[in-house]
Amino acid sequence: MSDKQQDNPDDDEDWMQYANAGFGQTDYSLWDEGEAKVEAQPSKVSDLENDIDTDDDMEDDQLSTHVEEIPRAPSPAGHKHLVRIGTCDHCLGRVGGKKMFDQSIEQAGIAIRTSILRGDSHLEKIREDNPLCPFCENLYQESELLADIIFDSLHPYELKRVQLGARFPKDQMESEEEIRKRFGAGGSDALKTGLVAEIAKNLNQRLKGVKIVNDKPQIVALIDVLTLTVELDIRSVYIYGRYQKLERGIPQTRWPCRACKGRGCSRCNETGLQYLKSVQDLIGNPLIERFGAVEHSFHGMGREDIDVRCMGSGRPFVIEMKSPKTRTIDLV
Ligand SMILES: [Zn+2]
Ligand SMILES: [Zn+2]
Repeated sequence: MSDKQQDNPDDDEDWMQYANAGFGQTDYSLWDEGEAKVEAQPSKVSDLENDIDTDDDMEDDQLSTHVEEIPRAPSPAGHKHLVRIGTCDHCLGRVGGKKMFDQSIEQAGIAIRTSILRGDSHLEKIREDNPLCPFCENLYQESELLADIIFDSLHPYELKRVQLGARFPKDQMESEEEIRKRFGAGGSDALKTGLVAEIAKNLNQRLKGVKIVNDKPQIVALIDVLTLTVELDIRSVYIYGRYQKLERGIPQTRWPCRACKGRGCSRCNETGLQYLKSVQDLIGNPLIERFGAVEHSFHGMGREDIDVRCMGSGRPFVIEMKSPKTRTIDLV
């Protein structure tokens, strides 16, 4: 008997009833029934199993049964529970299972709360009593601020495509998932997905001519929700070309000074270089300024000895501009 009752909330038929209940038209009799079941259960269990269960087991059984008897959203009783535990409007919309296509999650959440308060006005000040949203720990309140921080950090860079990511403490993600799967509607967005989408929405209103993408980004903005900071991963620009080397004695890539390993010493005249010139520096250094890059990396097609020349149509190379501020320049 107890097993059957525990399974009820996940029962397919029950789900359909909730889904068809029609939001805002129920007088919460479902909830009352739920509470009645919880109260009725212990006596039934004790009647059947009193002689085999120890008292400790009995308490555990009652406790877990009580928790599982709270129906999940989008049932009205589930919504009421979400409101009662201090869920914020954004999370109410995210896990409430009632968001309509043209609504933001905040609007969907406000609609759910309004409907619950119509029947239970004593829950009106619940967010003052429980100021910390159990789902997002009030991170949604910071989504405008985070969009501002990203916008400001992107400002020095020319870009058309940005991708957003977020770094969450693992235990926060796990505990959110646990209560979402227990009380939230099936198929609700996880906190990370939902929060990144909200920040993207806010950022989108600020950005002009920049798309927020999921692949081939020029910059990835990684939000750390613990410190409320943003880290940028600026993708390199690669320039393809061919070079001729008409003079011997120039290495293909930069060689650090053997004596000081590049730190700069009297042997290398404080340059840190074994050879003053290299194909890499001759091509890359002027480009670094044009691109506002921090450094370059040279990828020649095949190595080349320092004492050979390179004639004809030249040797193909790709030079990489790292962390460039500018992406489009006229090289001619
Ligand atoms: Zn929340
Ligand atoms: Zn040196």
